[in-house]
Amino acid sequence: MLDFFEPLKPNTKGGLTVVSNRGPYTFRKTARGMQVTPSVSGLVSAIQPVIKQIHGKWVAWGGRYGSEEEILGRSIALQKTDKWLFQEILLTEPEAAEYYEGMCNSCLWPLCHNFIEKSVFEEKTWQSYRRVNRKFAEAVLKTTGPDDMIWVQDFHLALLPGYLCRQRPGAGVSLFWHIPFPPPEIFAILPWAEEFIKGLLNCEFIGFHTESYVRNFLLSAREICGVTIDATRGLIFGPERTVRVGAVPIGIDWREFEKIASQPGVVRKAAGIRSDIGGEYVIIGVDRMDYTKGIPERLMAIEYLLEQWPDYKEKLTFVQVAVPSRTDVAAYRSLRRQIEEIVGRINGKYTENFHVPVRYLFKPLSREDLVAHYLAADMAVVTPLKDGLNLVAKEYVAVKSDTDGVLILSPFAGAAVQLTGALKANPYDPRELANQVIAGLEMDETEKKRRMSALARSVREQDINWWWQSIQQYWLSNAEAAGEAAGEAAGEASHGSAIGSMLNQGIML
Ligand code: UDP
Repeated sequence: MLDFFEPLKPNTKGGLTVVSNRGPYTFRKTARGMQVTPSVSGLVSAIQPVIKQIHGKWVAWGGRYGSEEEILGRSIALQKTDKWLFQEILLTEPEAAEYYEGMCNSCLWPLCHNFIEKSVFEEKTWQSYRRVNRKFAEAVLKTTGPDDMIWVQDFHLALLPGYLCRQRPGAGVSLFWHIPFPPPEIFAILPWAEEFIKGLLNCEFIGFHTESYVRNFLLSAREICGVTIDATRGLIFGPERTVRVGAVPIGIDWREFEKIASQPGVVRKAAGIRSDIGGEYVIIGVDRMDYTKGIPERLMAIEYLLEQWPDYKEKLTFVQVAVPSRTDVAAYRSLRRQIEEIVGRINGKYTENFHVPVRYLFKPLSREDLVAHYLAADMAVVTPLKDGLNLVAKEYVAVKSDTDGVLILSPFAGAAVQLTGALKANPYDPRELANQVIAGLEMDETEKKRRMSALARSVREQDINWWWQSIQQYWLSNAEAAGEAAGEAAGEASHGSAIGSMLNQGIML
């Protein structure tokens, strides 16, 4: 049960405040009280363990609407025992339509994933983006003190660091960019690219998942804003401060996944899934329903496989878990229609003796159910057309680490840089994908285990602790550099002590 309080007040001592567009929950007022639904995303999976351990604050929109004047909604103690707090931001309905659905989901998201033709550029949505970023800044300034470390998440809030520093010069503000950063020739298409990047250049540190996103950002800053960069050291000499950039791919809490996978109830559930499905092989795909995830392309590769290898018709089942996402955006509604049409077509054509080749779920699964599905699957096909990282690939490896599971991974997922033991397949090429599925199913057990243990090593070495420690090391080195530059002047880089104390406590997740 969640408790709702009055809006948060600033800490007296420095602490960590995470700011993101959506938080861990969506709230909806109903006749029977507040309905609370957990959010499903890689961002939430990564930030939740951090904030829980740090006893930090999380400022985000909870999906509810307020009037023009209202910024802050209620603050919520998410888990009484864990002492971490969520400060809800309220948006107006036009802001949600223009800033969130318009600028974020229909312009920046497709642009950063190289879907230029899907990007809609409208001055009115950009103005709303600016207004909402200012609104977040106002709320963050109200709920944090000067010694707080402010950690902004993702592309929704690129202008926020600039608005914060205008009011609080030298603020400890950093950002993690969760999606791909495209090459400069693509980002430059954004009519407001210069203002956008200049906002980001108020951060002390900007983290990305891969070196190639870092390179794209450095080059974009130089080409679009005319600033000097040091690509070797990952530095941008911005108009306001020197910005450090680095590649720190998010890791997972693999111990937690292993623990769930060994629970008797979850093992029983996995066995039940297999026996209900029947046949010999279960292949799984798990994605938010998003056009970047390559779901229709994957289904068409399965269709091609069933056509070319008819022996597999009664043996193979492909399970696609599609989590509803951004259902108010037209492109997502038409994607759903397209996927459901393909599923219907394949099942109509290839169902043999009542063995249905594609099982399709349009709903989110709980963590336990998800792990049972991973456990039940001989193979996971993670083939986004473009993806910042992809946590599902890492989670599948964590669950199947001691077994002979097979991972097929798109080279266009950020995780491909780390998960080199996976079978690679270009999602745009149904033949290659189908061939790799067959190769994976027919691979000998020793090779499967060899690959899986190499994958597991990478998932364990660069896990959520490694990620969080790496982020803190970047912050600390920035704070130290700022301290040195200011000759340890009083008041400078005071948030450095907050970071230092987190590191000294050896906070692990
Ligand atoms: N997830 C979940 N329930 C589901 C499907 C997915 O909780 O039914 C979680 C999954 O465990 C993962 C996250 O959603 O942590 C998806 O993250 P990913 O990086 O793969 O993709 P994103 O949604 O961030 O684009």
